[in-house]
Amino acid sequence: SNIFFRPIEKINAVIESYPKGIAGFNRYIEVMDTDPEIQDAPGAIEVDHVQGNIHFDHISFGYEEGRPILSEVNLNIRAGETIAFVGPSGAGKTTICSLLPRFYDVNEGRITVDGIDIRDMKLESLRKHIGIVQQDVFLFSGTIRENIAYGDLDATDAQIWEAARRASLAEHIEKLPEGMDTVIGERGVKLSGGQKQRMSIARMFLKNPPILILDEATSALDTATEAAIQESLAELSVGRTTLVIAHRLSTIRNADRIIVMNEEGIAEQGKHDELVAQGGVYSRLNAMQPV
Ligand code: ATP
Repeated sequence: SNIFFRPIEKINAVIESYPKGIAGFNRYIEVMDTDPEIQDAPGAIEVDHVQGNIHFDHISFGYEEGRPILSEVNLNIRAGETIAFVGPSGAGKTTICSLLPRFYDVNEGRITVDGIDIRDMKLESLRKHIGIVQQDVFLFSGTIRENIAYGDLDATDAQIWEAARRASLAEHIEKLPEGMDTVIGERGVKLSGGQKQRMSIARMFLKNPPILILDEATSALDTATEAAIQESLAELSVGRTTLVIAHRLSTIRNADRIIVMNEEGIAEQGKHDELVAQGGVYSRLNAMQPV
């Protein structure tokens, strides 16, 4: 699980060798952009605006040759739809989501966004339209402001506060003596698990991407915090195409469509009630879930 953290882990050593804070972070962006495995195709285009229609068009993918993880998967997602990926560990939920920002490229088939093959887009242009919220939030040593802006040097103070407010973080920041300029991280103020997640949500409100990938937390927050975070995430996903690697029953039930994955690929798809009535894989998974 948590494939989105892997590219970051890979380059953590690099980050550590650079000055902390925003300077170090800019370095990190450069490193991300120069990942040798995935590059812009010659003539790759800049896409300024996307609606968020996504088509996994008969894709096959494996990390190693001879060991396919996804075979001939075909999945059409409409702009604004919320999709929940469920299924046993190792089924490929994280993998399919990691193909969209091109952390890896498909072996066969293609992925399109608004009909454009993502390999024909400039990588930076593709990724600027995709927001990722994950359980292990990547915070760097720097101020809260820098962490919310996350490398966006054009963000205004008003926009950063608005993002904090929508993520229900503004009140907490206001109470800190140094407010937005409070330094967090090793040498600064420690944030709780819930506050860290809110930081990543604030980041996404600021980034405002049309496509969202939510890698839902499996680790425990207390129930009240968890419910509040879920509410913020639900608000964040409004009007965006949202792919959730889902673990929470509430998220799954509220999804527009549930994609049930197993070793063979997509086993079933539909709404919660439809899938329960169908009496297949999902209804069995559902019966096993502690509610
Ligand atoms: P979980 O619910 O445990 O997160 P998942 O459905 O998200 O599972 P994936 O993480 O997509 O499953 O993993 C699918 C398969 O791919 C697993 O067999 C896993 O071991 C393998 N896998 C995942 N990442 C890599 C990688 N970087 N290199 C090689 N194999 C990998």
